[in-house]
Amino acid sequence: MEGFRADDCLVIARAFSRTPLRSCSACGVPSKRVHSRYGRRISDRPVADRSTIILLTVRRFFCDNTECMRRTFVEQIAGVSERHRQASMGLCQLLHAITIELGGRPGSRLCRKTGVPAGRMRLLKLLHAPPVAQRAPRILGVDEFAFRRGHTYGTILVDVEKRRPVDVLPDRTSETLASWLVAHPGVEIVCRDRASAYTRAIKEAAPLAMEVADRWHLLRNLSQAVEKTCQQHRACLRKYAERTPSPIPRMPLLEAQPPTFIVQRVQQRYELINRMLDKGYPLSEVARRVGLDRKTARRYRDTELDVLIVSARDRRNVPLDRYEPFLLLRARILARS
Ligand SMILES: [Zn+2]
Repeated sequence: MEGFRADDCLVIARAFSRTPLRSCSACGVPSKRVHSRYGRRISDRPVADRSTIILLTVRRFFCDNTECMRRTFVEQIAGVSERHRQASMGLCQLLHAITIELGGRPGSRLCRKTGVPAGRMRLLKLLHAPPVAQRAPRILGVDEFAFRRGHTYGTILVDVEKRRPVDVLPDRTSETLASWLVAHPGVEIVCRDRASAYTRAIKEAAPLAMEVADRWHLLRNLSQAVEKTCQQHRACLRKYAERTPSPIPRMPLLEAQPPTFIVQRVQQRYELINRMLDKGYPLSEVARRVGLDRKTARRYRDTELDVLIVSARDRRNVPLDRYEPFLLLRARILARS
C-alpha cells in the first residue's frame, strides 16, 4: 500500500507490489527483468458502503525463456487483479454471490444501494456454467426438459450416482446427444426415457453402454399396461359369462356398463376438441391447448365418437372376438381335411 484517501462516497487506495520475481503467465519461468510500469484502476469491495478503487501500479516483465512465445508479460497480484478485468477478485465474488441469490435486475438494485454500481448484464455475465468433465459419468441419466413448454426443448444430462447435473444440450436430437457421447467417453449405463432419438444416439455413439428405463417411465409404462389389461379382461369376463350357463344373471353388455375412466377421457377430449374446432381454432392450436399430438387431435376431429370409444376400450380383442366362432369352425374343417 502506497497511499490512501477517502471522502463521503469514495475510498481510493494506491498500491504496488514489491515481489522481485514474477513467473511468466505463458511458460511459468520466473523473471526479474522489468520492461515497464503502468497504472491500473481496479474496483474493489465497498468499505463502509463507499465505492472503493485501487490504483494499482503493475510491472511488465521480460520473459527470457527463448522457447516461450511471449516476449513480455504483466504481473498479476494474487487475490486482487486478473488479466483484462477491472474489478478485483473479491468484488467479482461478491457480485457473483448477489447474482446467484437475486438474479439480474434485483441484484443490480441492491448493488446500487451498497456502493458497487453494476448493471444487470454485467451481473448476468458473471454466471458461468461449471466446467464439464472430459469423461462421461459411469451412470448417465438422459432426459428432455423444456426451455419453453410446447415450443423448445433441450436435453439434460445427469450423473445418477452423484445426483448432479453434468451438462445441458441445446436440443433433444439424437445427433447432439451422439456427438456429446463421442466427446465424453466412459459411460457404462444410460438411464433414459422412451424417446427413440436417445436410443439411436446411444446405439451409435456408445454401443457398449447398457440402456435402462428410468423409474418414472417404468411406473408410467406399468400403469398404462394395467389400465389396458383391465380393459381387455372385461371382454374375457363377458365371453365367459355367455358361455357358461349359470343361475346367476348374466353380465350386462360392455356398452351398457358405466363408463370407465378411459371412456370418460375420450368423451371429454372429443367434446372439447370439436367445440374448439367449431369456434374456429386451427387444429395445431387445439392440439397444443389440449396437450395432444397434432395427429391425435386430427383423429378426434375425423372419427366418430363411438369408434373412438371402441378403439380406446379394446384395440386388440374386439374385432377378432366377432370372428372367433367362424375362425374356430374354419380351423376344425381344415384339421379334418
Ligand atoms: Zn514465458
